Amino acid sequence: MNISESKRLFSEAQNYIPGGVNSPVRAFKAVGGDPLFIKRANGAFLYDENDNEYIEMINSWGPMILGHNHPLIREAVIKAMESGTSFGAPTAKEVQIAELITSMVPSVEKVRMVNSGTEATMSAIRLARGYTGRDKFIKMEGHYHGHGDSFLISAGSGAMTMGNPDSPGVTKGTARDTLLAPYNDLEAIRNLVEANKGEIAALILEPVPGNMGLCIPKDGYLEGLREICTQEGIILIFDEVMTGFRLSKGGAQELFGVTPDMTTLGKIIGGGLPVGAYGGKKEIMDFVSPSGPVYQAGTLSGNPIAMSAGMAILNELNENSEIYKELDEIGSKVAEGIKKINSDLGFDYTVNQLGSMYSLFFSSKEVNNFDDAKKADVGLFGQYFQAMLHRGIYLAPSQFESLFLSKALSTDLIDKILTSHEESVKEIHS
Ligand code: PMP
Repeated sequence: MNISESKRLFSEAQNYIPGGVNSPVRAFKAVGGDPLFIKRANGAFLYDENDNEYIEMINSWGPMILGHNHPLIREAVIKAMESGTSFGAPTAKEVQIAELITSMVPSVEKVRMVNSGTEATMSAIRLARGYTGRDKFIKMEGHYHGHGDSFLISAGSGAMTMGNPDSPGVTKGTARDTLLAPYNDLEAIRNLVEANKGEIAALILEPVPGNMGLCIPKDGYLEGLREICTQEGIILIFDEVMTGFRLSKGGAQELFGVTPDMTTLGKIIGGGLPVGAYGGKKEIMDFVSPSGPVYQAGTLSGNPIAMSAGMAILNELNENSEIYKELDEIGSKVAEGIKKINSDLGFDYTVNQLGSMYSLFFSSKEVNNFDDAKKADVGLFGQYFQAMLHRGIYLAPSQFESLFLSKALSTDLIDKILTSHEESVKEIHS
């Protein structure tokens, strides 16, 4: 495979951009080799600067759930562009998308649009602190909530992949207010709450975490968290930046029937444009400026082009109820196929899957939390990643990420993925 243009661009990029990339997860640091520079994408495929074609398994880290360059989104964006790109004043589209989001996501009675998942989680924590008058909050080990200071403690995703789960630059004072707990362990939460009685503003988690590889909540876990938070006056925040509009149209909270007090959203909500949102109970959201005292703002928040892309994708997901059934089928075909091939070849690697998200861990142990995930063989993952890439399958370049499948994956393409998987696993063990 000739990737000379990507190599040339990456070498040039490193002169002007730290590490040559605008987000660390894009570098192939953990798996070796140079990142591919992408020229265009369509449906289930990505094309690099040398016009090599790849089957997409990341889909821009989640947003492209309908596949790339979807006509509904493209047309909505082009139409919106004709009326101007930003006004810095309220628009009808912001009202429409807020109405739609509140109708789709069970916990969201009012919503504020922002420009990224990071802004959504930062704002949600500030609001929870302002509303409760408490400083501390609980975060799960290995969960990622964007790059706000107070979240870069035992952080998953790129922070973990690059070996910096605790980022320099976060003050000790900030870190002190972030209490850490292992995921899927209710007893640990009870103990933390007991030891910090009346001081905890919020508990934030990815209800179905994807940033340490995909993990699934144990039976009763989310319900247990709900109960503890209600008893202790702690605001339960589901970070559904990944799972929102993906696991169901109402996200993980709808799928598991557990309603948090607040929810953070991103990725799919913008149809590929930079959008995030946070929302929740009216009385909490009304604490945000200008109706309340907690300040949060944004020059480009609710941008008309981004709102148009968001409306196009959310309307489609809301109206076409077959989509989630199709996505679930795609997810289980891929995951079950991989499990079968592994077991036929005599490997008992762990595959976690829910709907259109899955992770293959190079570990024979169950993976239910961060400590389990860390037992995976990252060297073997790197070899597997390269073997798949050479066969035209574009995976996330880290063991500690979930994959996000799109509706554009046809049965033929799933077959190609599975054949490539079989060849790759054989190759790395030969
Ligand atoms: N929360 C979660 C669960 C995420 O997965 C991410 C990004 N992967 C974020 C927050 C941050 O979102 P953004 O990259 O848009 O700032």
